Amino acid sequence: MRKICVEEHWGSPEMEEIRAQWRARTGFPVSMDPKALPLLAPRLKDFEQTRLPLMDEAGVTMQVLSTSSPGVQGLADAATAVPTARRINEAQAEIIRKYPGRFAGFAALPTQDPKAAVDELERTVTQLGFKGAMILGHTNGEYLDLKKFWVIWECAEALGVPIYLHPAEPLVDQIKIYDGRPEFMGPAWSWGVETGTHALRIISAGVFDAFPKATLILGHMGEMLPYMTVRIDEGYGMTFHKTQLKKLPSDYIKENIMITTSGHYSPGAVLCALRELGADRILFAGDYPWVLPSEAVDLIERVPMNDADKEKIYHLNAERLLNLQ
Ligand code: MN
Repeated sequence: MRKICVEEHWGSPEMEEIRAQWRARTGFPVSMDPKALPLLAPRLKDFEQTRLPLMDEAGVTMQVLSTSSPGVQGLADAATAVPTARRINEAQAEIIRKYPGRFAGFAALPTQDPKAAVDELERTVTQLGFKGAMILGHTNGEYLDLKKFWVIWECAEALGVPIYLHPAEPLVDQIKIYDGRPEFMGPAWSWGVETGTHALRIISAGVFDAFPKATLILGHMGEMLPYMTVRIDEGYGMTFHKTQLKKLPSDYIKENIMITTSGHYSPGAVLCALRELGADRILFAGDYPWVLPSEAVDLIERVPMNDADKEKIYHLNAERLLNLQ
């Protein structure tokens, strides 16, 4: 059975530099212990000695590549972000060309300048064969529900490609709740809250009423949204602040969002997503290098489901959504 993983990161000295600059500029308190994953750097950067053998060992046919965090969204201004995104995308295209059939790519976009982001999305999809874009959370505190970013949704819908919304750290002035308990900043909790909330902002702003064929991809089993569908609809229906949506919030979660199995999860979490969204809305992903290809496969194999659903999750949904052969 073909297996296509769709949230698989790669790294370079330039991406490490972006991370160092972002940390210095924002003063974000570092929460991840680098000793927890000592092989991170070679796994991110090396393809022939490390990544491809790990893919082969797990029977993974293809990885859809994207930058490591915080990516281009971690840059302070458009003047830096525009040429940086272009350089990263060109380097990624080179990797894809070098190993035919093994890799595809999501573009890095300079969202600091929405028009330039549109140009780069169009260029990378039409000229480099990229399959969509990955945006790593907010851009200096601005989220993708703002009207200035709607040109990106419009372009993605017109090109027929998805936007993958990847977790990012919250703003430094929004981490009060973690005072004294910083262990829950990061994958344990804050990234899911940040990214799930970001997706709800996009829904509530009416992005998917304006662009009904647009697709947002959320990793990490849907960043907690599949578990919350009924309560979101109920609470949204009771507030003074509800927006003029054509449908219920959960309708957009089920019709405009596709989720992936990236990250470490239990079979029960996958079963929840299967029940709430259905097998047509779930894509296979690891979140390499944090999760190895063999670990990603192991999760799917431990979920009780039929082979037809497994085929959808492992490759059919990705082939359809990303127009992969
Ligand atoms: Mn990731």
